[in-house]
Amino acid sequence: MTHPQLADCIEKSAAVFRSARRVVALTGAGVSTRSGIPDFRSRDSGLWKKYDPMTVASLASFRYHPKDFFKWVRPLVKTMIDAEPNPAHTAFAKLEQAGFLHGIITQNIDDLHRKAGSKRIYEIHGHLREATCTSCYQKRNAKSLIEAFARTGALPYCDLCGSLLKPDIILFGEQLPTIIVSEAQALIDDADLIVVAGSSMEVMPAASMPIPALNAGAKLIIINNEPTYLDIRADFVIRDDVADVLPMILQEVLREPKETKRLVSNQ
Ligand SMILES: [Zn+2]
Repeated sequence: MTHPQLADCIEKSAAVFRSARRVVALTGAGVSTRSGIPDFRSRDSGLWKKYDPMTVASLASFRYHPKDFFKWVRPLVKTMIDAEPNPAHTAFAKLEQAGFLHGIITQNIDDLHRKAGSKRIYEIHGHLREATCTSCYQKRNAKSLIEAFARTGALPYCDLCGSLLKPDIILFGEQLPTIIVSEAQALIDDADLIVVAGSSMEVMPAASMPIPALNAGAKLIIINNEPTYLDIRADFVIRDDVADVLPMILQEVLREPKETKRLVSNQ
């Protein structure tokens, strides 16, 4: 995309933002790459060198070889704990604060939308703030245990029964959190603008979540380095880094003060 094409696309995308009643973002790994978090589905992330994530980060493998899972995940956890939000996360938070974004559905487990100040976030692949006991199913705040694990390698154990805790991130082959997914679906179903950012839209259910709203006439902006199967249905496709593009859209959206009716419609 040439510079004038990009500028035109930013301006038109911002206009769509401004005229939308309810905007929902769907974000994936590409939003966090600028924060140094590798896409662990990507073959060149380095995390593939010793282990295949599809095997080691699967629910079955966790059950039988939990130590392999923890060994594999430790550098990723450490990276996530130390990571800071980048301009993409910050722009999403500012759009929400200014009343131009109703919520974020994210496939990321890195907590960076929250760290950036976003409020309404649906983490459909889970997060590392809590963990669940593999025996007694007690759910507990896991922040300090996960930080200790990242620092020292000490595995997290249940303080009630002594069994291993599983961080509340969704492993391959594991069912997604039903309530969060259905709330996220309801949120996106009611959107009249969907912004897909940094997701190649290859993983279910996120990949199909925009479909009902699109069929009902919602507009679609896609900001992603790679093509997605939904590009054909998008009003604007910006094939670029979301950490570069979204701050530009934000600036353009905020050029004029927000209309009063938007304040009302976002309650
Ligand atoms: Zn327990």
